[in-house]
Amino acid sequence: MSIFKRNLLIWILISSATLWISACSSWIGKVNIFPVENDVALGKQVAGSIENDPSMIILDSAQNAKIYGYVYGIRDSILATNLLEHKKDFVWRIRLIKNDTVQNAFCTPGGFIYVYSGLMKYLESEDQLAGVMGHEMAHAEKRHSTDALTREFGVTLLLELIFGADKAQLLRIATNLAQLSYGRDAETEADNCSVDWLYATSYNPTGAAGFFEKMEKEKKGNIPEFLSTHPNPGNRVQNMKQRWETKGKKAGSTFAERYKTMIKYLPN
Ligand SMILES: [Zn+2]
Repeated sequence: MSIFKRNLLIWILISSATLWISACSSWIGKVNIFPVENDVALGKQVAGSIENDPSMIILDSAQNAKIYGYVYGIRDSILATNLLEHKKDFVWRIRLIKNDTVQNAFCTPGGFIYVYSGLMKYLESEDQLAGVMGHEMAHAEKRHSTDALTREFGVTLLLELIFGADKAQLLRIATNLAQLSYGRDAETEADNCSVDWLYATSYNPTGAAGFFEKMEKEKKGNIPEFLSTHPNPGNRVQNMKQRWETKGKKAGSTFAERYKTMIKYLPN
């Protein structure tokens, strides 16, 4: 290890080691030595790499203004709850990926959100999309994506990439991010955040559970993309419903009709 790297690592350890305690779950503590100030910078590099990948077709936001306006409206409802600690310092930018065969969504560190057209066409109502978006946003908000990338690549490499991007390494990270699998604790926490955040909106708070139920019911043979990257923490639907009950069983809307109308703005 070079002196520069060692000094960098020591600096990170001293300046950034923070004990992080989750608000959405019950006192799961952990230490992340990747500085949160750099999550957006890392996300930006990864996002650039994803969008330069010729196999990723990103829907143009100007040409698809209606559908982008719609998903941004859902994002805004979630952010307006003021329950996200990183509401202001993360970017929460959305890009839609044109691929009708993939039923998945993911979020980079710092809040670059990606949703596949295949997921949007598969879902049945707006609360389900809001629930899944909440779940993905929670992976960034709670820094699960940063944790996972740090585990996979090491904090030194990630920081080096921010300051002097190596294109081949970035592409490897970008590819990994879409395939990244989180642990069970992270999944439970993201589910809990999804319920808590939607509870503070007009949506049915267990929207994400509707998606999980549909997937479990309809999966035949091959495992849907989402289930392979978001391992089922066990009784996930039941856990979400229990959390909703504990919070006071507030009913919300599915906005199914509006969803069916808006989804037609996705290109075929
Ligand atoms: Zn997940």
